[in-house]
Amino acid sequence: MSKPSRRPTCPARLIWRGHDCKRGARAPKENADYWANKISRNRARDAGALDALKTMGWEALVIWECQLKNRDALDAQIRAFLGI
Ligand SMILES: [Zn+2]
Repeated sequence: MSKPSRRPTCPARLIWRGHDCKRGARAPKENADYWANKISRNRARDAGALDALKTMGWEALVIWECQLKNRDALDAQIRAFLGI
């Protein structure tokens, strides 16, 4: 199978996607159940979207908001992903 050449990137916000990091693990205290459900739905939808992209032959790189702080590491990650 040839290497997929289509590689979209999509920034992900930590809070609303429930990233597994210090900032992403925070959730609003008010209406906790509502937000837990919402974040859970967001994560399920993201997983479904990534699966669908994969099925169509796309590779997706998810970039988390917290990764923007370390530009060198992010740069290296994007270059590796794009093979440049
Ligand atoms: Zn994070």
